[in-house]
Amino acid sequence: MSTPFKCAVKDCENHSHQGKFVGLLCSPCHAFVAGDGGLYSQAYRNSRSMIDLAVAMEREAIGQKLDDIEVVAKRLALDLECVLLNPSKWHNEAHESLQQYRNLMDTWYPQEHVSPLGMD
Ligand SMILES: [Zn+2]
Repeated sequence: MSTPFKCAVKDCENHSHQGKFVGLLCSPCHAFVAGDGGLYSQAYRNSRSMIDLAVAMEREAIGQKLDDIEVVAKRLALDLECVLLNPSKWHNEAHESLQQYRNLMDTWYPQEHVSPLGMD
C-alpha cells in the first residue's frame, strides 16, 4: 500500500487513505474540476470568491446596458412621436437617434463586414 498523501488542492484536508481519489485529487475536488458537481469540495470553496466576483461584474455590465438602452429607447420614442406629428421638421433628429441606436448595437454586437457578394 502506498504512502497516504494530501489532496493536491490548496487547503483541502482530504487524504488518500480516507476515501476515493482520482490521481492527485480527492473525489469531490476532482468532480468539481471535471465539471461534474463537487459543490462540497475545497476546490469549489477556493473558486467561490472568483465566481462571486464574476457574477457581480456580469450584473454590473447588464445594469449598464439597461441604462444605455433606456436612454436610447426614450429618445427614439420621442423622435417617432415628433416625426409622426411633423415629418419634415423632425426628420434629421430622428435619423440621428436611429444612428445612435445603430452605434450602440455595433458596440454591443460587433460584426465583421460581409459584402452581399461574399467578397470585399
Ligand atoms: Zn480535495
